Amino acid sequence: MLLDIKNLHVKYGNVEALHGIDVEVEEGEIVTLLGANGAGKTTTLNAISGLVNVTKGEIVFSGEALHKLPAHKVVTRKITQSPEGRRVFGVLTVQENLNLGAFTSKNKERVAKSLEWIYELFPRLAERRTQLAGTLSGGEQQMLAIGRALMSNPKLLLLDEPSLGLAPVLVNQIFKTVRQINQAGVTVMLVEQNARMALKLAHRGYVMEVGKIVMADSAQALLKNPDVLQAYLGGA
Ligand code: ATP
Repeated sequence: MLLDIKNLHVKYGNVEALHGIDVEVEEGEIVTLLGANGAGKTTTLNAISGLVNVTKGEIVFSGEALHKLPAHKVVTRKITQSPEGRRVFGVLTVQENLNLGAFTSKNKERVAKSLEWIYELFPRLAERRTQLAGTLSGGEQQMLAIGRALMSNPKLLLLDEPSLGLAPVLVNQIFKTVRQINQAGVTVMLVEQNARMALKLAHRGYVMEVGKIVMADSAQALLKNPDVLQAYLGGA
């Protein structure tokens, strides 16, 4: 087991957002979290990467308890998150943004290799390596955010809404690239509004409702599940 989340509770002030969830991710999988707005998907990712505090329960990654570590320590432990809303550094070039993603690595050769791989995954970024990130299109910024997350050579990539606000052709491209990233050996946890595409890409999925996991199954089974069809896939 690469990631083992047990009875995870998270509170914002006095309000509990996660009421004890269990999630397991095997090495090499793509696992998707589905659920309506406010169900707690982003909170789950943020808890894994140490951006919000765990009030109860545990998060174990590669046999190590993460829930007691601050976010900057989690990064060096091979988990990176590409946040919702992209958040690239607009006044820096594409290449400078990517280099920032490797700030934890002192191995120059490895950093150069990652950069080469990312430019292979996203040829559009290669063409625009000296362009200021703030002038990229939304889709290109999304690619850059994912590329930057990959620069630290993660074992687990957390993706929050990678298709948000993108034109359908770019959504297809991003999903294809996520599959390539996974085939290169990176385990992926994916939060997506586009449930159908997420389930087609993922091996397994979890369905969240108001801070709880209400369903867990193979992606194929979830795609055929009548409740999932009704609630998240726009009916049959
Ligand atoms: P969405 O798809 O809308 O992003 P989500 O499933 O990712 O939804 P979360 O963002 O994890 O849901 O939010 C879960 C609950 O926690 C919501 O009720 C939300 O209002 C609340 N919440 C999230 N972040 C904070 C915060 N920083 N302070 C207070 N409450 C928060």
